[in-house]
Amino acid sequence: MDNCLFCKIVAKQIPSTVVYEDDDLLAFKDIHPHAPVHLLVIPKVHVSTLSECDASHTPILGKMLALAPKLAAEHGCAVSYDADGKPQGGYKTLINSGPDGGQEVYHLHLHLVGGPRPWRVQG
Ligand code: AMP
Ligand code: ZN
Repeated sequence: MDNCLFCKIVAKQIPSTVVYEDDDLLAFKDIHPHAPVHLLVIPKVHVSTLSECDASHTPILGKMLALAPKLAAEHGCAVSYDADGKPQGGYKTLINSGPDGGQEVYHLHLHLVGGPRPWRVQG
């Protein structure tokens, strides 16, 4: 897509802080982080929004979601358990879709938001 911000990031025409890359996916730091860890996971191919996905997108959506716990662990916000078995740490995974869903960039992306609270945006 000629005029897509995230396609330009994939093409390295716009700089970003890349934290993961393979043949299908790119992950980079969000430029306006809401929390100590705020990463975006995107497919390299242009998909505008989750609402355009169907069963043919299952493999790429699965890869995006499966990458989240690996990145969370690498960035220090995996869920772990203390000696009493109480969970600690953690993160959110979020896909905004369409105007009412708060989507601003129309290239599918999964937010990974985590780290110690407080965060800039609660919830
Ligand atoms: P959304 O509202 O779900 O479409 O999220 C778009 C996200 O892209 C926002 O969190 C922005 O901060 C982020 N963003 C916009 N431009 C850039 C950029 N050049 N590099 C990294 N993140 C960006
Ligand atoms: Zn794109």
